[in-house]
Amino acid sequence: MGRKPKNQSANNAYQKHSKNTQDKNVFHSKVKMISRLRGMRDILPEEYVRWDEVINQARELFKYYGFLETDIPVLESQSLYEKSTGKQTDVVSKEMFTFIDKDGDKVALRPEATPGVVRSYIEHGMFNRTFQPVKLLWIGNLFRREKPQLGRNRQFSQINVEIFGEASAVADAQLIMLGYQFLKELGVTTQVQVNSIGDSLDREEYVKKLIMYFRDRKIRAKLSVDDKKRLMKNPLRVLDSKDEGTQSALEGAPQLIDNINDEARNHFIKVLEYLDEFDIPYILNPFLVRGLDYYNRTVFEFWPMRGANSGQNADSAESVEEAISRQSALGGGGRYDGLVEFMGGRPTPACGFALGIDRIINRMKEENVPMSSAGQPDIFVAQLGEAAKRQAMTFFEELRKKGYKAQQNFVKDSLKAQLEMAHKIGAKLTLIIGQQELVDKTVIIRDMESGMQEVYAFSRVFEEIDKRLK
Ligand code: AMP
Repeated sequence: MGRKPKNQSANNAYQKHSKNTQDKNVFHSKVKMISRLRGMRDILPEEYVRWDEVINQARELFKYYGFLETDIPVLESQSLYEKSTGKQTDVVSKEMFTFIDKDGDKVALRPEATPGVVRSYIEHGMFNRTFQPVKLLWIGNLFRREKPQLGRNRQFSQINVEIFGEASAVADAQLIMLGYQFLKELGVTTQVQVNSIGDSLDREEYVKKLIMYFRDRKIRAKLSVDDKKRLMKNPLRVLDSKDEGTQSALEGAPQLIDNINDEARNHFIKVLEYLDEFDIPYILNPFLVRGLDYYNRTVFEFWPMRGANSGQNADSAESVEEAISRQSALGGGGRYDGLVEFMGGRPTPACGFALGIDRIINRMKEENVPMSSAGQPDIFVAQLGEAAKRQAMTFFEELRKKGYKAQQNFVKDSLKAQLEMAHKIGAKLTLIIGQQELVDKTVIIRDMESGMQEVYAFSRVFEEIDKRLK
């Protein structure tokens, strides 16, 4: 019998859960509906409030720190990813959505952003820009043909930040600080895991030592089937395996951090000194290597932890879903000093990281982070009667132009239904215009909490709204 995959029971629970939620509320028509593809997700309108919040906060924070937003194509040449990410990595060998387009070109949906951003940096000669280093922010969708499970979809979104043209440790440390701070401000508690994987020669030497270590049959036998294959193809990946057997096999293994050159070690020490200075808590994780070939020196990840809002103390039992979700990093990155040159540009030191928006939002929900009320309307405009409706529509437009947060439902004629909606969306005031108000040039202001209604001359209405919304 093969080993039972560690996450199998949780996956079953997840699949059962999604099936139940899919079945509920679905109208069963005789016409066969075309469903969304496996692993692809919809974001429903109620969810979008959180998406907006995360994306807006990312824009605000990173732009404040001098990152400029950029965009790259969804579709690129397949070879871009094969060259940059490495053919041996899972992202490229198994997970890319690729096809041959009608011109016979091999193309791929972007599975990660860094290769496209690097291509764009080179293609547009950004090394020539007046302001150096070049700091870029990218937010968008990525596609990986992975096995869908909790926290793992085939389409997902990331926030990527990259710094080109800065070799000093302050860049690495600033990135780690920003990622940590960003998540903290969203209400998500994380732990920074950090390591140095040295430079490529260090790794070549280290891989030889690792392979020697696994020559011992007894040790090798503890590896999972997948990790045995990895040991042949991409031995460093064995280090960050989540498999318990592999983890126990690694207990006596040589550590990469003990095998890096002096310059890389000094660089790493400086990164850690900056982190101490910025007061960022971190864990040194000698087994952290990250999945992709292009990293060198500093690598880091943001791991979710139980936060103050979760309502559970750190020792209480966690659900299977929670355990899986905690095993999955919210994001990570590192230095990739060789990549720009390797991709055909000038030698350019660089570093960056990516945060997964879907997983951040899941964590916000798990940690009971309240939804932002930033977009919530303060005012509801209700109307009664055809002529009053027209007046209310004009009035609503005036509210919008003056910058009030207002809502309406002009297709409804019943006042009761309109007031119900005003309650549901949490409006503080409802402004009612009926036939009488139209004739008198007045508006009724209803306080939604107390239910008290008062009539005001139209000319005084904005003054009164301001007073009440203060
Ligand atoms: P990576 O680009 O693999 O380093 O991933 C960076 C972050 O993107 C991860 O920490 C996740 O938050 C997110 N991520 C990666 N793959 C997926 C996926 N298949 N589904 C959802 N989020 C993902």
